Amino acid sequence: MSYKAHHERSISDPDGFWGEQAKLIHWEKPFDTVLNYDNPPFAKWFEGGLTNLCYNSVDRHAKERPNQIALVAVSTETNKEKAYTFQELYEEVNRIAAIYKANGIQKGDRVLIYMPMIAEACFAMLACARIGAIHSVVFGGFASHSLASRIDDAKPKMIVTAEAGMRGGKAVPYKPLLDEAITLASYKPEKVLLVNRGLSEFTSVAGRDLDYAAERQKHLNDIVPVEWVDATHPSYILYTSGTTGKPKGVQRDTGGYAVALMASMNHIFCGKAGETMFTTSDIGWVVGHSYIIYGPLLNGMATIMYEGTPLRPDAGIWWELVAKYKVSVMFSAPTAVRVLKKQDPAFLTKHDLSSLRTLFLAGEPLDEPTASWIHDAIKKPVVDNYWQTETGWPILAIQRGIEVMPHKFGSPGVPSFGYNMKLLDDATSVELGPDQKGVIAIEGPLPPGCMQTVWGDDKRFVSTYWETIPGKLIYSTFDWGIKDKDGYFFILGRTDDVINVAGHRLGTREIEESISSHPNISEVAVVGIEDKLKGQAAIAFVIPKDSSKAENLEKECMKTVDSQLGAIARPGRVYVVSALPKTRSGKIVRRALQAVAEGRDPGDISTMEDQTVLAQIKTIIEQSAKA
Ligand code: AMP
Repeated sequence: MSYKAHHERSISDPDGFWGEQAKLIHWEKPFDTVLNYDNPPFAKWFEGGLTNLCYNSVDRHAKERPNQIALVAVSTETNKEKAYTFQELYEEVNRIAAIYKANGIQKGDRVLIYMPMIAEACFAMLACARIGAIHSVVFGGFASHSLASRIDDAKPKMIVTAEAGMRGGKAVPYKPLLDEAITLASYKPEKVLLVNRGLSEFTSVAGRDLDYAAERQKHLNDIVPVEWVDATHPSYILYTSGTTGKPKGVQRDTGGYAVALMASMNHIFCGKAGETMFTTSDIGWVVGHSYIIYGPLLNGMATIMYEGTPLRPDAGIWWELVAKYKVSVMFSAPTAVRVLKKQDPAFLTKHDLSSLRTLFLAGEPLDEPTASWIHDAIKKPVVDNYWQTETGWPILAIQRGIEVMPHKFGSPGVPSFGYNMKLLDDATSVELGPDQKGVIAIEGPLPPGCMQTVWGDDKRFVSTYWETIPGKLIYSTFDWGIKDKDGYFFILGRTDDVINVAGHRLGTREIEESISSHPNISEVAVVGIEDKLKGQAAIAFVIPKDSSKAENLEKECMKTVDSQLGAIARPGRVYVVSALPKTRSGKIVRRALQAVAEGRDPGDISTMEDQTVLAQIKTIIEQSAKA
């Protein structure tokens, strides 16, 4: 079937199309309806069907292929490497599920997972799915304030953690940040289950903290029955940044997610059971959820969890793993490739890459030089794909499992099955023709696997995503784009105040709120500016309350962000200024700040209250570059 016919059918006959895809997973009880869209924009997929993500990812493969490798946990930080077969994975997941049960975790309870890239994090996620508990993985790079706001929103009964991660040869303590977060949060979890890796000292809270090794020992031979849940039962909450300071909990279902991931493994990633997939992301991000944990395991593939940098012990490490574990499908981000690009390409080619079929890259725009460099170095197809935390799987890609269409540099490709894409004028909502710039939107229902709602806040789901395009109930991606005459989309950046640093999404509001908490800050504006390595970098402009005490303000602001949000959100520069460019109604003109910081012409500034402000800021930036 051609791509076009396949896509058209997915839109015109969703029941037929997704009903067929649903056969790719096990249903304990068949669903009553494929799609219930009686209450738009809330789509209910496979209602009435009983299934389980853990059963589909682990149990059925443990029965069919018990001795095949399911998970390889590699740490080039601790120099440990351990492979688990599907049978061993099954046993480990049951042990931790038994620990959950023994501590009163029930179907629908939340478990927050704040962990480095270790095998236990994978067990902890799958064990939640096994018992119908809802996991919320928080990226290990986030600090106490970020963690506290997620604890207060998700209200987890238990938090699973490790005392430390490791990066670049140094232990990165997690436990003190978690303790501080629990102190800051109004909601207090009952238990903390801690994997002690022996990397750093920590203190335990009696009655609350449990040692994973000791608990595991108590449940070594336990088997916990699978909790069959309705397809619409939430499997997880994953927080992502938006335009407000409060992160949004993206809530995902169970059945639709499993079906969509399996369909994506077949049609987009083209992995096969028995092969190995290596996704270099982190479990704290959506790519980690979908393509480190659930996608490959659902598909009966081995997955590699990697703790470390792409450069240690040398820049060939990822490719050494590709050769060693015969990786057929690899998934990474443009930033990682830009890091490798600074190294000798011989590091890549000295390993046997014959098993590798395709390299997928996503999370941020893929620039032509980066795409060409990696393609020439590994001589394999490089497939850009565009999606969001909200959608859970690619919106745009070349779907090689359906038809190998030509790639166009700068474009992540064409709409995936199930996505009814529109390119709209942001003011008039009129659908645009070829090569016109507009907002990329998706006509409901969103396909299976996409977010069900914002956790605990249906109204926010509707008002944030579905009511921004005037006069239409349509999902906005908040990305600008154009579509060419052949239907290929090109992404032109966000329409909101969200920035993308090294493929990680950050809200400038969150960073502004953190900097504002510094006692000497009167006003702050954060913008994202172009960065050669990371795609974008955050830059802050601050007005001090007392300029005589502003000598170390840049460092102090950075420290504040580090300790509250985590180093990942730290602005690259903090400029101390005496005024910010504002409109007459008092709105900060971030667009103009961004232009000046990037050395561009700010364009029309006639609406600004004081037109000299930008010139002053430009001088400050130039002087600081010289200093
Ligand atoms: P996240 O939810 O963190 O995955 O971030 C999603 C956002 O990252 C999208 O809305 C885009 O702005 C950007 N993005 C993701 N993938 C791509 C891609 N392949 N090309 C361009 N931008 C992308």
